Formats: sequence, C-alpha cells, structure tokens
Amino acid sequence: MNIIFGPVNSRRFGSSLGIDLSPTHKQCNFDCLYCELAPAPAVVSQQHSIAVHEIIAALTQALEEHPNIDVITITANGEPTLYPYLDALIDAIDALKGTTQTLILTNSAALTDAHTFKTLLKFDRVKLSLDAVTPEVFQKIDRPHSHIDILHVKDAVKEFSQQYHGKLYIEILFVHTLNDTQEEIAKLNNTLLHIDCERIDLGTIDRPPAYPVSGISYRELHEIAQQFDATLPIHIASRRHAEACHTSYDNDAIMNTLDKRPLTHDDIALLFDDASKKRLQYLIDDKKVSEIERGDLHFLVPTRNIIRKRQKS
Ligand code: SF4
Repeated sequence: MNIIFGPVNSRRFGSSLGIDLSPTHKQCNFDCLYCELAPAPAVVSQQHSIAVHEIIAALTQALEEHPNIDVITITANGEPTLYPYLDALIDAIDALKGTTQTLILTNSAALTDAHTFKTLLKFDRVKLSLDAVTPEVFQKIDRPHSHIDILHVKDAVKEFSQQYHGKLYIEILFVHTLNDTQEEIAKLNNTLLHIDCERIDLGTIDRPPAYPVSGISYRELHEIAQQFDATLPIHIASRRHAEACHTSYDNDAIMNTLDKRPLTHDDIALLFDDASKKRLQYLIDDKKVSEIERGDLHFLVPTRNIIRKRQKS
C-alpha cells in the first residue's frame, strides 16, 4: 500500500511529498467525466480508511529520507475530505512538519459540512476545484452524489475564502462544450469576484479521461482567460496540449494584452513570435513592463498598473 508518493517538483508549489488518503480504492463524492481514475459511483463516505498512525509513520520515514520538502500535499484516489480522520491527521502533521507547508487538493463539496470547513482552515494552502456554478452544468461535468448542491458549495467556497488565512487557490477544468460556454464563464466570473484567493488556475483535460469527453486547446483557454474580469488572478495552468501560436504583437498590442491579462514567461514563449519577444524585452528594459509575483508565479504587467494600484492603496 503506497500511502506516500513523490517527492515531485512542481514549479508552482516547489518540492512536494504526497499523501494518498485512499491508496487502495477510488472513493469520491463526484464521478467527473474528465477524471483520470476509472469511473466509479459517487459515495458520501469512505468504506476503506487507513489509520492516522499508519500515515504518520510513513510520512515520518519519508521526511527523514527527503528532508528538504517544501510542501506536504494531501490528496487521494478520489476525494481526500472523505477521509474520516482528516482533522486528527492535520493536527498530527502540524506537530511534526516544522516549516514545511501543508496543502490539500479538494473538489470543494465537503466545505458545506461545518466540521470539514473548520478542518480545512488548518491547512497552510488549500486548492479548491470549481468547474461550474450552474446546477445543470455541474451535474453534467462532475456527476456529484445526489446529496451535493452546487449552490450551497458555491456559498461555502465564498465564505471559506473570507475566513481562511492561508494561501487559497481555485482550479477550473474546462471540458469541450460543457463549461466553456460564454454563459457559464460569465457566471463563474461573477462567483469568482466574491472569492478572495491567491490564484485561479484554468486547465483542461491533460490525461485520458474516465468518459469520452475532450479538452480544449491552449488558444481556447487563452480566449476564455480574456473573458474573466481583469482584476482576477487568472493563470493558464494546462500546457500539455499547448501548441505554440507565435503571433506577432506590436508594442500597443503587447501593452493591451498585458493590461487585460498578465502573462507568465511560459505564456509569452507560446504566444509571441521572436520579433514580439524582442519588443517585449525593450518594453521591460524601458521599465514600461514589470514583473510581479502573484500566487507563487511571476507575471508581466504594464508598470503603470502597478503604480496605479500603489496610488489607490
Ligand atoms: S473529484 Fe477528482 S477524484 Fe473525484 S471524480 Fe472528480 S476528478 Fe476524479
């Protein structure tokens, strides 16, 4: 039974050691069309759970072998918040982790449960999935257990973002023709404007899905990113199918694009042709474009936007 996996190096979270809270069975309250695990009916509780002391013993040994870990990531073959002893587990990890950060990846549904809500407040970092906010779209894409109501989940996510003091990330995974419509994006946008978070990762299907659905291209993700409010910390996280577009941008187009949506150097590598990259470098040298850190990543933005923000605050 492999409870601990990794370490894996992620550009976003650093060196991460994973804990799988359901190593032998898929146990999830969703049955997402895009899940990389095999399809399985949604459940509301775990039928197979490991003891906290077993996890802590495995983690202690792994931390001895890998002392320079940045993040301990709690995940599962399924949904980690279904683990019945999560609260005791995070207390036990907190007691031994030192300066290492804790992160949990969850589909957000259990935030409607007051006890789980409080438990998640204890993590240093929380990543919440929110693929849709319209009940019909949510039903189609995430196929939740019948007890789950996305309208309650949406309210719980907003409330969590107000009470949480750690780093909160939101993830939206887009599936072709399901949640990539203008209507759903507009509704997601309205919801996100009420969620206080470090970063919003937009992704798509990167691995073979449980059901016959397809993802969208990097260019489509980029177009979707432009539809969200410019104040939202949007980041395109899915690059597996990113074909380089290498489009030509003049100076005005570069400034307008960065004004609407700050870009990382990886985005630039995919979107800009060589001449545009040179133009961008001149703008950086000229201090018209600056680099800012947001949600652990470096983004390029028009310098005037930073000055405007400073003047406002
Ligand atoms: S929430 Fe995650 S584990 Fe559960 S079905 Fe969806 S993708 Fe799979």
